[in-house]
Amino acid sequence: MKPKVAVFDFASCEGCELQIMNLEEKVIDLIDIVDVVSFREAMKENSNDYDIAFIDGCIVRPLDEKRLKEIRNCANILVAMGSCACFTGINGLRKQFTDEDVKRTVYGNAIIENNPYFDVFQPKAIDEVVKVDHYIYGCPIDRNELAEVITSLVMGKKPDIPNYPVCVECKQKENICVFDYGNFCIGPVTRAGCGAICPTNNCGCEGCRGLVNDPDTESELEVLQRYGLSLDDALDRFEMFCYQKGVVK
Ligand code: SF4
Ligand code: SF4
Ligand code: SF4
Repeated sequence: MKPKVAVFDFASCEGCELQIMNLEEKVIDLIDIVDVVSFREAMKENSNDYDIAFIDGCIVRPLDEKRLKEIRNCANILVAMGSCACFTGINGLRKQFTDEDVKRTVYGNAIIENNPYFDVFQPKAIDEVVKVDHYIYGCPIDRNELAEVITSLVMGKKPDIPNYPVCVECKQKENICVFDYGNFCIGPVTRAGCGAICPTNNCGCEGCRGLVNDPDTESELEVLQRYGLSLDDALDRFEMFCYQKGVVK
């Protein structure tokens, strides 16, 4: 019997779900090995009977927490999909402001008292609420990596997610380092897996896949110093996807 798969979204732009649709002809291969039973962006049907849940987005309200816990109870395997789900991603920028400031700015004078849809708190990554079995990084995720993760899970294997920096893929492509063009890059400490797509197109890596585990900050520092830049310059760059109150400035 094919494993049943469900896709759910929380606070996000849903771009990572769109990447599933962007698999195009590969979708047909995947449908051969899994049954998709819930996927709001792509189908009307839904079911609470599934084996693998893919989660797009982060958690911002008590009602999200409740729904996520229900999903976790149904799923044997839960996968956080994209930077928002893995570590709050762009949503994390909101941690710079108080919840009250955010509500006032976004909803203005709308009546929000006692309305659970507006009852927001500081964004939480999926693993701050429930156990996560696997992570697919990126903003958005890489669709080929997603297909590989699904195939691995169906085969009962642990998905192979890189834990080395973007610089490795960048050098494999024989790119000229973007620092040489006067651009900035946090590839030395960012998790690879995107094929170094940004530096390959002459843009610095902005860290959308998050830090590698045990990042070699010495190597980032070495690169920075070579180009007359400081650690603060790098930390500023990490704010976009990896804002952590008290960690990144
Ligand atoms: S990780 Fe990026 S692309 Fe994916 S849902 Fe979040 S903001 Fe959108
Ligand atoms: S610093 Fe950036 S551009 Fe330079 S090698 Fe590393 S990933 Fe490539
Ligand atoms: S190069 Fe950096 S910013 Fe660009 S996709 Fe890869 S991890 Fe994300």
